[in-house]
Amino acid sequence: MPSSGIQSARYSRQTRFAGLGQTGQERLAKARVAIVGLGATGSTIAHGLLRAGIGYLRLIDRDWVETHNLPRQSFYTEADAEQLQPKVVAAKAHAQQINSACAIDALVLDLHAGTIDQALAGVDLVLDGTDSLETRLLINEWCVREQVPWIYSGVLGGHGMTANFRPQQACWRCIFATSPEPGSMPTCETAGVVGPVVGVIGNLAATEALKLLSGQGQANPDLFMLDLWAWQFEHVPMPAPRPDCPVCGLRHFDLLDHASEPTISLCGRNAIQIRPQQPTTIGLARLAQHLYQADLRVVQTDYLLRFAADSLQATVFPDGRVIVSGTDDPAVARGFYNRWINH
Ligand SMILES: [Zn+2]
Repeated sequence: MPSSGIQSARYSRQTRFAGLGQTGQERLAKARVAIVGLGATGSTIAHGLLRAGIGYLRLIDRDWVETHNLPRQSFYTEADAEQLQPKVVAAKAHAQQINSACAIDALVLDLHAGTIDQALAGVDLVLDGTDSLETRLLINEWCVREQVPWIYSGVLGGHGMTANFRPQQACWRCIFATSPEPGSMPTCETAGVVGPVVGVIGNLAATEALKLLSGQGQANPDLFMLDLWAWQFEHVPMPAPRPDCPVCGLRHFDLLDHASEPTISLCGRNAIQIRPQQPTTIGLARLAQHLYQADLRVVQTDYLLRFAADSLQATVFPDGRVIVSGTDDPAVARGFYNRWINH
């Protein structure tokens, strides 16, 4: 741990900035933040907070690093992709080299109603780095119920959006009253994305986080939207909380109260995720043994196991989650799962 003298020199450019000052910097050192989704936006946000001297980061993501992530997802390297590293494991390793004083927990985890309480417990702020509407709606419900602020970031194509959601103020569902069906909207997987736009939105969100956590500065009061490709910028003032809002007004926490679907299609990836309804563990070594006996080629790391059979590929995690790639038919994926894994 560097001495406080070295630490104060390290952050001297920030503490000299009157808007933050020594008091703000000391608050950042005590702040606890969760980032959900360590893709492009989450990587940018994490970098901003880590380098600014945040005290604690909890990194939450369910995926591993792939080469098509590398054009935008600034934490990762070709070696991470070759080694099938879970994103949060790779991110934590790189992050500790950047700032060893930051305490970091890396959770390889699919955020859903059954995992969110444990995943987000005890943080001062939640940052949205997902591109999943369903996850975002779940974060909104949890943050309203637990009175924890969260910052929304969304990027698609050349567009970006960000907003701060704080207790007692308008929530996501106050603004987007009728949410589209999860999966019905385009995502970065289907519509693409311009890498630097993610950096702009992620850094806006990181700056807002620094203001909220340090208690300094004027927080963004708007839903802020930009289209950098068309050079258009728009501010929409956040409305007052709606008394008839299903979440913050009527306090219906539908997503938190109901178990999520065990089988979901991963949009644009020609893949199905299957997750157990009950907490479980899969012994990867034992599964690998079965698969070797069936003459299948198996790749196993500390965090996942991957094999191919029947023209499909499966990636298996120790928490029982399985991603079957090569089909978008849940019945086919479940048949594969029952044949090779759940027997
Ligand atoms: Zn609301």
